[in-house]
Amino acid sequence: MTYKYTTESLCKQAVETWGKDSQLMKLLEEMSELQKEIIKNISFGKDNLNEIAEETADVLIMLERLIYIYDMSDKVNEQAAFKVNRVKGYLGIK
Ligand SMILES: [Mg+2]
Repeated sequence: MTYKYTTESLCKQAVETWGKDSQLMKLLEEMSELQKEIIKNISFGKDNLNEIAEETADVLIMLERLIYIYDMSDKVNEQAAFKVNRVKGYLGIK
């Protein structure tokens, strides 16, 4: 599994073009769209895997922009490693 879709230069250009606040609002918008598709799938049994995949891609791309905006790649990697290891502990995985 790979979750790196954009480059730092693309993030930089996007933020310079549309602004930091607009990019953060776009992330919230995309997360909301993904939530709606998941709700449609679970609560209403909708066959919408394509829509879920599309909105997941949108969210992943905008999360990378969030990480760029706050320059927190190291912190996020550190937290992710900690949390994945914790889950491994819960599941008894070494
Ligand atoms: Mg979207």
